[in-house]
Amino acid sequence: MEEKLNKILTKIEEADSVLIGASNGLSISEGIHIFAENADFLENFGDFRKKYGFRSIIQGCFYPFPTEEEKWAFFSRMYNYFLYNEEASPVMKNLYELVKDKNFFVVTSNIDDHFRQAGFPRDRLFEIEGNCRNLQCTIGCHDQIYPGDEILSEMAEKQENGKVPADRIPTCPECGGPMQVHLEVDRNFLKGEAWQKSLQAYQDFIGSAHGKKIVLLELGVGARNQLIKAPLMNLTHQEEHATYITFNRGSELYIPEAIATKSIGVDGNLAEVLQQLAQEK
Ligand SMILES: [Zn+2]
Repeated sequence: MEEKLNKILTKIEEADSVLIGASNGLSISEGIHIFAENADFLENFGDFRKKYGFRSIIQGCFYPFPTEEEKWAFFSRMYNYFLYNEEASPVMKNLYELVKDKNFFVVTSNIDDHFRQAGFPRDRLFEIEGNCRNLQCTIGCHDQIYPGDEILSEMAEKQENGKVPADRIPTCPECGGPMQVHLEVDRNFLKGEAWQKSLQAYQDFIGSAHGKKIVLLELGVGARNQLIKAPLMNLTHQEEHATYITFNRGSELYIPEAIATKSIGVDGNLAEVLQQLAQEK
């Protein structure tokens, strides 16, 4: 293991650019599991579970709440749960420490916005499915993403019996209709100017890395993931000087034969491995 970690550090050190691809497994290593009905879910969302029957944060995101008051009680609670602790987790701090001096970019399906919390700048992030802190018009009547921090923390704080006060509920400044968190929960998810700009930045980053040494650092992305894993593996295949480093557990750790010689797989506890890497850097 020690030898493997040293090799990873050398690869990062030598790289001209580092592309991070992250998904649910990274959040799990921080202690956040949006698919699980675990003790943490019951402690923080137990009242919703009792009232509506959903069994995880992700199910809550897709739940058809009967009223705006109830909908915002959930989404503001989720916001608070993800971001109430203003300091980044050790996992995210270690990750930032590892790449902060490099030319890096992040592509992720995580919605907790923990990259930005850890210091990763917004313009080097592509959050494919949005995040929990921005708002949009529910029907997407116009192409604008609004920062929701203030209103979300207020609603999280002022909610009672699973409802937020009616006069706190945000409405669309254009059509006057309801708003929602900018998350890909339905077809109205805005992939407009802001989203396209992030996508472009991601593509530009890949374009500028062409022919040079690039490290693809894949963190907690499931073996069958098509959104993040497939593009990273393809890029490894295409780029002569690419190194694909994937962190996962057991059967989720997957490296195709075609890129095996350019790849390093680490099967272990992501939180611990990142800490070791950050320390030994
Ligand atoms: Zn509208």
